[in-house]
Amino acid sequence: MSLFAVFGSPIAHSLSPIIHQAFGNELGISLQYERINAPLGTLAESLEQFRMRGGVGANITVPLKLEAYTLCSEHTDNAKKAMAVNTLYWSHNTLCGDNTDGEGLVRDLTLNIKLNLEGKRLLILGAGGATRGILAPLLAQSVETISIANRTLENARILSHQDPRITAYNYELLNNSKESPFDLIINSTSASLEDKLLPLALKWVKGAVVMDLVYKKQETVFMQWAKSHGALATHDGIGMLVEQAALSFKRWHQVLPSTGPVIQMLKAM
Ligand code: NDP
Repeated sequence: MSLFAVFGSPIAHSLSPIIHQAFGNELGISLQYERINAPLGTLAESLEQFRMRGGVGANITVPLKLEAYTLCSEHTDNAKKAMAVNTLYWSHNTLCGDNTDGEGLVRDLTLNIKLNLEGKRLLILGAGGATRGILAPLLAQSVETISIANRTLENARILSHQDPRITAYNYELLNNSKESPFDLIINSTSASLEDKLLPLALKWVKGAVVMDLVYKKQETVFMQWAKSHGALATHDGIGMLVEQAALSFKRWHQVLPSTGPVIQMLKAM
């Protein structure tokens, strides 16, 4: 039986073992998938112990995605563009890193939510690791523009240098701007984890599809706020979570599992 794990800190809440076990059950692949608590600065040592116990692949979550990136000798294009790694695998004893977060989001938006991103105007709230991971795969969908609004303007500015279609704002600048309405708003901040709302003007959510990358048992405060102010539809980050996991699974097992039943299972939990 092959051994896998997700590394992060805190890690007890991670749904990854449930998701990967469900994929394995569907495909008749027997696997063991653990949660391993690894505070910042301890990943190299934890990975060595994991490898000695027979570990063949791992997922990486907060706060270790950058640390994982620096430990890898080889990176996929998506990992390079994000400068962050959420999937590890070994090729001939070389540690390799991939980032499936952005492709996972694109799969959720296009296949599950059935949104055609071509020519669309996007607003991304937040400029942290999650935004770094999703930018390149979204740009590759031929979106028209991406505006990034972030509490700390400089962090959004750094990301905007990637592509001429990106404009950086803080919330005040965005709210006073002459931007046309957005088709899709993605909340890529961690504010919903603490039930905090963002200082985003109401006018932006009216008529837009809204997604919060955070997932909770109930709708996030941001989804509730957007729904009550005229959003066309609201979605949480469960679909992205399952889709990015499916892409990691494919990297390790060379087969893409069905995601729909697992998304439904998690939503019902
Ligand atoms: P980071 O810590 O790297 O970045 C956090 C971002 O949120 C920063 O832009 C920060 O702004 C902003 N922020 C935090 N608190 C507030 C606040 N109170 N008001 C305004 N802005 C705030 O986190 P990540 O980018 O790695 O992750 C963000 C979220 O995305 C996480 O909550 C995670 O749960 C979710 N996520 C979901 C995934 C999924 O599969 N569904 C995958 C990956 C992430 P500033 O720059 O000013 O500090």
